[in-house]
Amino acid sequence: MGGIDTVRRCYDVVASGGVITDAEARDLLNVPDDALPALLDAAGRLTRAMRGPEVDVEQLHNIKKNACSEDCSFCAQSAFFDTGIETYRLPPAEEIIEGAKEARAGGADSYCLVAAWREPPPADFESVCGIVRRIRSETGMEVECSLGFLTARQAGALKRAGARRYNHNLETAPSKFSQICTTHTFADRVETLKRARGAGLELCTGGIIGLGETRAQRLELALEIRRIRPEEVTINILVPVPGTPLELQVPLPPGEISRMFALMRFLLPRSIVKISGGRETATDDAGEALLGGGADGIITNGYLTMPGNAPGRDSEIIRRARLEA
Ligand code: SF4
Repeated sequence: MGGIDTVRRCYDVVASGGVITDAEARDLLNVPDDALPALLDAAGRLTRAMRGPEVDVEQLHNIKKNACSEDCSFCAQSAFFDTGIETYRLPPAEEIIEGAKEARAGGADSYCLVAAWREPPPADFESVCGIVRRIRSETGMEVECSLGFLTARQAGALKRAGARRYNHNLETAPSKFSQICTTHTFADRVETLKRARGAGLELCTGGIIGLGETRAQRLELALEIRRIRPEEVTINILVPVPGTPLELQVPLPPGEISRMFALMRFLLPRSIVKISGGRETATDDAGEALLGGGADGIITNGYLTMPGNAPGRDSEIIRRARLEA
């Protein structure tokens, strides 16, 4: 009963425009299992009240794959691990713009250019700015970028090129970070987000759950994400990649995944909360139930190094959830 009371109290606070405290966020994440359906239902109602019935559908284009200099222990693209995935450098602009046009025709709202760089090399960065300009002028799509660490000058150049939003994930809780990555710090990641914000870019940030972190560390991550106030939150669910240190990581139980999405809705009621990598393998329904429990965004047509659902299948999931693409 205490759990349901917590959910009701927090719902009333957020629905009336208020902000829940860190302690209330902890209580929400820890509601007993018998209060979990009430938590998910409340998160779903908040989502529809604050964001409407639409699901934000995004398509990614991995414009530089593999051989990243960093050692993030979940990542198939780190040069530290032999994961056997293909490697390629920045493809010709025409190829990327064609991809954006196809995504537009397939119903995607935005196109995200992602590169496995610690930071963009200067010549490649200039090319990406030109590509952003062309996607904007030739398709009218919103463009997001995820290019690694940015200088303030680069953040400004991306904004002027027409990029709307910059993605840079926090990955995991500050207290877990050094077990996941040793080549840069949590603070480095926050710094790039500040630079992007300083240049007037919208922010997209989040993390990856299921890395062996505790529930308390998921709360820590969620509260750090709230501090940044991103327009979009991305929560990935680990898909263990053979060859990485986390290849044998035990999957998170579905209830833990649902709790995290519901909590993010209570913490950032007006932001897009996107189910990123992992929904096709970590959930039985490719994320359909999460769209009723706090999430309102998906990535379609595959991920950076993994296949995903085809756009037609995702449209079907959205229809079944009685939502709109
Ligand atoms: S998560 Fe990003 S920074 Fe880390 S290894 Fe992968 S591509 Fe590089």
